[in-house]
Amino acid sequence: MDDNDEQQELAGLHFDNRFTRSLPADSESIKHPRQVYEACYSRVHPTIVSQPSLIIHSSEVANTLGLSDRLCKSDAFSEIFSGNRLLPGMDPHATCYGGHQFGNWAGQLGDGRAINLGELMNHDNEHWMLQLKGSGPTPYSRTADGLAVLRSSVREFLCSEAMYHLGVPTTRALSLVLTGEMVMRDMFYDGRAALEPGAIVCRTAPSFTRFGSFQIFASRDDPTTLKKLLDHTIINDFPHLGKPDKQVYLQWFREVCQSTAELMVHWMRVGFVHGVMNTDNMSVLGLTIDYGPYGWLEGYDPDWTPNTTDREMHRYAYGQQPNIAGWNLARLGEAILPLIDNISALQEALNSYPQSYKQMSQQMMADKLGLLSFNPETDKTLFDELENMLTISETDMTIFYRKLANIDINIDIKKSNINNLIEPLLDAYYQPSTLTENTRQQISNWLRSYILRLQNDGLSNSERRKKMNRINPKYVLRNYLSQVAIDKAEEGDYSEIHRLHALLKQPYDEQPEFDAYAAKRPDWARDRAGCSMLSCSS
Ligand code: AMP
Ligand code: MG
Repeated sequence: MDDNDEQQELAGLHFDNRFTRSLPADSESIKHPRQVYEACYSRVHPTIVSQPSLIIHSSEVANTLGLSDRLCKSDAFSEIFSGNRLLPGMDPHATCYGGHQFGNWAGQLGDGRAINLGELMNHDNEHWMLQLKGSGPTPYSRTADGLAVLRSSVREFLCSEAMYHLGVPTTRALSLVLTGEMVMRDMFYDGRAALEPGAIVCRTAPSFTRFGSFQIFASRDDPTTLKKLLDHTIINDFPHLGKPDKQVYLQWFREVCQSTAELMVHWMRVGFVHGVMNTDNMSVLGLTIDYGPYGWLEGYDPDWTPNTTDREMHRYAYGQQPNIAGWNLARLGEAILPLIDNISALQEALNSYPQSYKQMSQQMMADKLGLLSFNPETDKTLFDELENMLTISETDMTIFYRKLANIDINIDIKKSNINNLIEPLLDAYYQPSTLTENTRQQISNWLRSYILRLQNDGLSNSERRKKMNRINPKYVLRNYLSQVAIDKAEEGDYSEIHRLHALLKQPYDEQPEFDAYAAKRPDWARDRAGCSMLSCSS
């Protein structure tokens, strides 16, 4: 690609910055950390880096944005998506928000290391906010440096793209660029700080507005800015709701409750644990946002959290996520209460959350098990017993559901013995040889009820298997897989990042050449940092 083509393509990009155009800006333009009042954002330039080089980009995201693959591989692209070069029409800024962290109000947080470049309008007239994560300090950086390291950037790039292909609502990643700078990090807050390579992910979403974006104005008793942000959000991201008024605010809140419930159902379905469900990490669009110390369930354990900061409380453990989302929605409801002024109507809207979650989650479980639909008379017990069974001996959740799809429902239950029944599932157990007689009995009892239940539905084995394999992934971003890719990347070998990115585009397909990536976590990864334990330091 010569310079002329590049210039032409770049000149064709159109930015339409609705957020900065319509909402109040910080009146000061200094970067140093401070409280910013009555403003939704501060204009701030990304910090220049010494040697930006592209590690990987997502062709699909580029395509959505109207960027060619050739452009993505050019030097100009690395310059732009490391923040070294701004394009005409960009309006770089960091947004102001607050949040409850681990249940406590934390005051102003804001984009401490994220800088929005602007809203790119694509060929379909969609607006995509482009955001650099790790491009230097902003007024919201508090005591931190505004930077991101390679390991956390690889994790965000790969996981957000993997989630998209799993069908889970998420922000997406356009690019991962190495900055050429080294960044100091104390990974486990134990005084052993070390230099790590710096990196920047460009991520994108229709908007990055969070629950905490509203909370900050409510906490400061600033209903004027609160109203401006809510009106802006409704007009641009929820245009079907019509002209904002009290009724529309309520309807908006109901929709956030609904999309959050959908998101939780997806996380539970695929075994994703976000790790830091603070209210500043909750998107009002119901997207998975801010990939930090997240993890994937390997052994099924509702109490598991990958986040070392949460080791004592397990507040954000896998099984807690739906409840925590409800708690977070209650905080969002409180924040917009001054604009609605009707606490019972708001409470009623909030009550829709547990109702829709329950209903959707029952249907999701029915789908995971290949049932035609949820039958309250039989299936509640079936699900409860399954949950029990999955926790008695370490069972790989992902493998379990894929193996379950292979069960033959035409067998004669009365004649088949325990061994025959559980044989197809043994691969899902971390220590199949240590299953006690009681456990084997429990598993085979459950399988008997399950097979009887399936026989009632009348689907054939192959119809059912196809249906189950469409929603139970074979490939997820197992915790140790990212770590292996990171270890290699830190030595300059990016091949594993590319391999994972490619194979996770088809998480529901068999892909036999990648079978090793669908295997159980190896023993060495059980307690290794980065594989099962992660800190917020990134
Ligand atoms: P998190 O929970 O990781 O999403 O971050 C919580 C808050 O800390 C947000 O306001 C972030 O912008 C901020 N933050 C996290 N890491 C850094 C960093 N290295 N420099 C500046 N701010 C940061
Ligand atoms: Mg965050």
